[in-house]
Order: sequence, then C-alpha cells, then structure tokens
Amino acid sequence: MSLLARTRPDLAAFQPYVSARKTGLDGRIRLNANESPWAGDGATFGTNRYPDPQPALLRARLAALYGVPESRLWIGRGSDEPIDLLLRAFCRAGRDNIVATAPTFGMYRIGAQVQGAAYRAHSLPAAQNFALDPERLLALTDADTKIVFVCSPNNPTGTLHHAALGFLAERLAGRALLLVDEAYIEFAEVPSATALIDRHDNVAVLRTLSKAHALAGARIGTLIAREEIAAFVARLAAPYPLPSPCVALALEALQPAALEHTRRRIAMLIAERTRVARELATLADVRTIWPSSANFVLARFGDGEAALSRALAAGIVLRDVSAQDGLDDCLRITIGAPEENDALIDTLFAPSPPTASSSGERAGVRGRGVNRLQDFGAAGTPPPHPTLSPGFAGGEGKTAEPSP
Ligand SMILES: *Cc1c(COP(=O)(O)O)cnc(C)c1O
Repeated sequence: MSLLARTRPDLAAFQPYVSARKTGLDGRIRLNANESPWAGDGATFGTNRYPDPQPALLRARLAALYGVPESRLWIGRGSDEPIDLLLRAFCRAGRDNIVATAPTFGMYRIGAQVQGAAYRAHSLPAAQNFALDPERLLALTDADTKIVFVCSPNNPTGTLHHAALGFLAERLAGRALLLVDEAYIEFAEVPSATALIDRHDNVAVLRTLSKAHALAGARIGTLIAREEIAAFVARLAAPYPLPSPCVALALEALQPAALEHTRRRIAMLIAERTRVARELATLADVRTIWPSSANFVLARFGDGEAALSRALAAGIVLRDVSAQDGLDDCLRITIGAPEENDALIDTLFAPSPPTASSSGERAGVRGRGVNRLQDFGAAGTPPPHPTLSPGFAGGEGKTAEPSP
C-alpha cells in the first residue's frame, strides 16, 4: 500500500487548477493567459509571461545536485512551502496529529496549527546532547499520526539525527510520513536521507538553496519523495510557485563554477564553526556549547539576555532561543564570515562596560583569532569552565554539561 492512502480522503477526487501553462499548448502568439503582450520597463527574464510551474532545466539541475530521479522532485517557494502542503495533504483538521522533536524549527508547529492538526513533541534532553530516542518518539504516535518531522541537523541545536532514520522509517511504514528536513545537511558529514526513499515509500526529504547555496532571498526549496507523493503535492500547489527571476538565480547558483565556490564557502564555515565554538568555550560566561553539524552553534550562557544585549550594543544580532523547551539562557549563533566571527568574539571577550555589569569583572581579554586558537591547543591550558560537550569536533576530552 502506498502512503498516498494516508492522505486526506476528501482530497482523493480533487481536481487541480489547470493553468494556461499546464495545458501544454504553446504557439507563436499567446492569448490564453491574460498576460501583458509587452515587457514592462526594465523587465528581464520575460517576466510579462507566467513562469513555467516546474522548469525542466531547474528540475534537471536539482535532481543532479541531489542525486535523485527528477520524478521524485517538487520544487517550491523555499522548503516552507512543501512543509505546508504536506500538512494539508495528510492531516484531517481536528483529527490528525503530527510528531516533532523539541526543540526544533518553529514552522512545523505553525503549519500544523494552520491546518488544525495536533502537535506532539518529543523532548530532546540538553544534558544528553539532544539525543533522539526513537522508541520514546514512536510512543507518541498513534493511528492518527500522519507526519513525523525530523530536522537533521536540527535547528536550533545543530544535532544530527540521521542514525535513527532507517529505524523510524521502518516502524512508521504504511502509517506516517517520515519528513526529514535537511536544510543544513551540507554542513554535516553524512549522506542525505534521500537514499532511504528507495527502500521506504514513507520517507520524504526537504532540501533548500537558502543556506549553503547562499540563496535565501530566492526562495527555492525542494521536496524529494516517492513520485506519487511529489505529484500529489504538485496538485495542491498554487499554479506558479517559482518566479522566473528566482529560477534564473538558482540556475546560476547551480553552474559548476558556482558550485565549486559553494563547496569552498561550506568548508570555510565548517572550519569557522570549530574556531568559534572553541573560542566561545573559553568565555567565563559560556556554560555549554553543543556539537553542531550546521552553520550555527547553540550556546548556553550564564546570563543569555546579558550576552544578547551586549552583542546587540556592538551591532551584532544573535538569535534568542531561550523560550524553547529546555533552552534557558541559550543563544543560537550563526557562523558568519571570519571577520564577523572575530567581531563577535572580541565583543564577548571585551571588558564589561561599567553600566552593564554589577561586578565590572573582566570576562578575559585575549589575543586575536588565530593566536587564540593556537593558545588553546598548544599551551594545553584547559578552558576555565567545562563547556564543550562530548563529541564536539576538536573539543576532545571536555566534559558534558552537568545534569541539572
Ligand atoms: C532555514 C530552514 C529551512 C529553510 O527554509 P526555506 O523556506 O527553504 O528558506 C527549512 N528548515 C529549517 C529547519 C530551517 O532552519
């Protein structure tokens, strides 16, 4: 039985909108879509015409990039769009539920709420590096569970959960879609979960050009799933999800030379991630930095709010995630360009401004980036606090966050 049997029964006979482009008719003179016959001032990309709903060349390039058959793709306005459409496709309002981890990306809950699906959260314990417990997660599922979301690497923790996916797919077979959000997979050293789709018809994967490919502004996200699921999502989608200028930008970003640049940027961000984590770990006010497989690190501060406003006063914006389950005093820090990371480190290491701290104590002023990193390794001086969790890349031998 295909997992399509688990989609909403009221959509079974659903007739999608047939746009002018979808009729497949084309000719010298197009008078079938109420478009302007003239390009507007300064227009490029033929934007007076409606775009191809799923441009063949972009499909081919993305299929090659992700190493999957084209028939398994549906490209949308960022991966946020397939998240929304899958919730609509599978969840009966007021009856069905979805399961996700906590903490995780907030859009799963929003999408579930908009669709009227109940949201069940599997808590990931900070004291155990946010490890996912597959049996405990599965215990939250029931006959009305339609989608299990696993974000891996997870936002905002940076944790990789790929090891659990095969087992989860097996146990959810015929019942629920295992939706693996791989927005940050380029920064991790594991193969994509797309390989699971051959064996498990209930696995779907989300990829995006927003992060590693530097195209957040173009909104190009891809659902990779069995053909019948990708086709079902396509039927629900708005007729023209992909603006032609965005498609053109995506095609440029997928040229071989651009992909080579992307690979270099990824390598630099991974190296910077290690450096930033090591540097921050030596800060007196940093309690824990968790291992990250993404382009950010999650850090727990003694006083998260103080660190946040201190950075902000220097014009550096960090993400406050302290409102999420178990993340008191935690900030998510995106890895920036080396000079941006230096600015953050310098700001947090600078002596406390007299107005901001009661003690006026120096957090510790150190040399610049590279020297500091060498000090850390060569001098063999342990950081002042046990801040690096086990498994942290390059942080061997540091103790975990003490249990509360
Ligand atoms: C950034 C992010 C996305 C990407 O969304 P787009 O709509 O493709 O920009 C998806 N999932 C997670 C977990 C993210 O952090």
